[in-house]
Amino acid sequence: MLKKMLQKYWGFDSFLPLQSEAMNCVLDGRDSVVVLPTGGGKSLCFQAPALCMGNLAIVISPLISLMKDQVDSLKTCGIRAAYINSTLSYEERKQVADDMRAGSLALVYIAPEKLVQPRTIEFLSRLNIAFIAIDEAHCISEWGHDFRPEYRKLGMLKKTFPGIAVHTYTATATERVRLDIADQLGLKKPEILVGSFDRPNLIYKIKPKSDVLNQVIGVMDRHPGDSGIIYCISRKEVDRISNALNKLGYHALPYHAGMSDLDRKNNQEAFIEEKVETIVATVAFGMGIDKSNVRYVIHNGMPKSLENYQQESGRAGRDGLDAECCLFYSNGDYNIWKRMLTADKAQLRKGAFESLKAMINFCNSVICRHQALVQYFGQTLQKKSCNACDVCLGLLDLADDPVTIGQKILSSVIRQEERFGSDYTTLVLKGSNDKRILQNRHDRLSTWGILANEDKRTIRGWTEQLVSQGYLEKNGEYNILSVTPSGRRLLSGDATPRLLKPALPKSNSRTRNKASIEAESWEGVDRELFEKLRVLRRNKADKLNMPPFVVFGDVSLRAMAKYRPSTQEGFRMIKGVGDKKLNDYGQEFLECITLYCSANGLSTDIIPESVPPPKQSKSADTIATALKSFKYFREGMSIEDTAS
Ligand code: ADP
Repeated sequence: MLKKMLQKYWGFDSFLPLQSEAMNCVLDGRDSVVVLPTGGGKSLCFQAPALCMGNLAIVISPLISLMKDQVDSLKTCGIRAAYINSTLSYEERKQVADDMRAGSLALVYIAPEKLVQPRTIEFLSRLNIAFIAIDEAHCISEWGHDFRPEYRKLGMLKKTFPGIAVHTYTATATERVRLDIADQLGLKKPEILVGSFDRPNLIYKIKPKSDVLNQVIGVMDRHPGDSGIIYCISRKEVDRISNALNKLGYHALPYHAGMSDLDRKNNQEAFIEEKVETIVATVAFGMGIDKSNVRYVIHNGMPKSLENYQQESGRAGRDGLDAECCLFYSNGDYNIWKRMLTADKAQLRKGAFESLKAMINFCNSVICRHQALVQYFGQTLQKKSCNACDVCLGLLDLADDPVTIGQKILSSVIRQEERFGSDYTTLVLKGSNDKRILQNRHDRLSTWGILANEDKRTIRGWTEQLVSQGYLEKNGEYNILSVTPSGRRLLSGDATPRLLKPALPKSNSRTRNKASIEAESWEGVDRELFEKLRVLRRNKADKLNMPPFVVFGDVSLRAMAKYRPSTQEGFRMIKGVGDKKLNDYGQEFLECITLYCSANGLSTDIIPESVPPPKQSKSADTIATALKSFKYFREGMSIEDTAS
């Protein structure tokens, strides 16, 4: 039954991991806490059973924009759904209430603050409710990274609606948060389903900040025409980066809490409707974004926790296709957050400083980024190499002699009597004549200038890497460095740290593997046809006043440009095409495909196993040349030589 629903309404043939288990909890009326990564298909876990159960399902969702997208999305699949929030007029609200009473809706989305009002409760208790689903359930826990007081009141649900199962869904929850969710809501012996936190299609790259604007542009240039988000810590930096990008001819819009509600709303809509490709934002942006085809997320500055990082970077590639997540950080970001957390006691959540430390350690560490992230959430990856992060792809070089470097740094810390922080230690090692160093006579230490040939940023980076690997420890308000017992072992040559030396990408086999991952998701896809379908999708979405990805996701569009169906039956086979979408959009998309194929002498109705390479379009040629040139350039060739 569930599978039939999946096929008919969504055009999907199989379940994603744990979807079937989560759906069965709903059908069986067992309370549940479901933790699946972004893009793991949480919405379907409650939407599909709602269709099977007949009675009304109530969905509690924190953001108005998210509700609208979800309801639009359901309607395009032919499912009767509605939402109740402050944006509805009196007539609209009345219509929804009438439909709920008449039992003609499968799902209704309600904001938490609306749900807990006595009138709503009273109204709902007179209806036949199948179950209650709580989306973004981590908001209920003070241990979560996005605690919302209005979610706390949901604790009354189990008492007010005894006998009705409550199901909760979130993408980020440590064990503590999971248990807290169940506890706060008073769930009865809940089924706790925890999926893998790994997002294998995200390619993580983490680098110290240098010339950040150029670093940002470097990423954007790898994704022409694609949607991307650039996160900055401060509003000022959002404005600076977005202005600079526009001056350079990129089309980007800012988003932060200092802007008017209207400007923010307009910019968010422009991004969702694909009228602008890039949004530069503070973390205020994104909670209400369901856009499935974000192809890159850049962090200009370190987030304040790994939960935040997972959630923000997780906005890339929800459709399962490759996406790039680049984080440019400096150790100064740590201090900025520390100051902000200390100043804003009201916002200070439990464990905030531990989270911040885990975040900086993650940046400075040299283990697989996928591994490090899932480990934080209490899991391990079985794979040896993820083939999708800077560490595993060999984009970072390890320093040749980490033991000697480590020993030099540690002995300087000891000679400075373990009374100074990383910046000061760096200056000593570099051989600076800074006033403080001269005053302390540290220019006379044997470690003064012992790393004079290295650049300050590199030395500072090594120091932080030694901290993250437990050879050094930071103490007190001023982050004074001291040597740990492991550090003592390193000094006596009994331990080997892993120290990074930022390097140019090597054209080794692992990078080639990466190239083949990218090629795979585009394999057989005619890019020019994809672009044509993308324009058609945007025009269609404009007319319907909904985001393009609600009409069709990138996965469907790529499949159309690969298999090039010419018949209704062929079109129905495309992933993401259910009965209603076939009916509503099939004709126009089919026309676009057949027109393009006949104009370019391309065959249609390709059988999955025998996809021929697409016609070498001009754009594909250009991309290939650009990639090749870029490689030469990165290998150190001059612009003139690269061009010739
Ligand atoms: P989440 O809420 O967990 O981030 P969504 O519910 O938004 O995830 O789903 C992410 C993407 O995966 C959407 O594009 C959705 O249509 C797609 N999806 C969900 N379930 C399936 C499935 N069983 N097969 C294929 N795609 C699916």
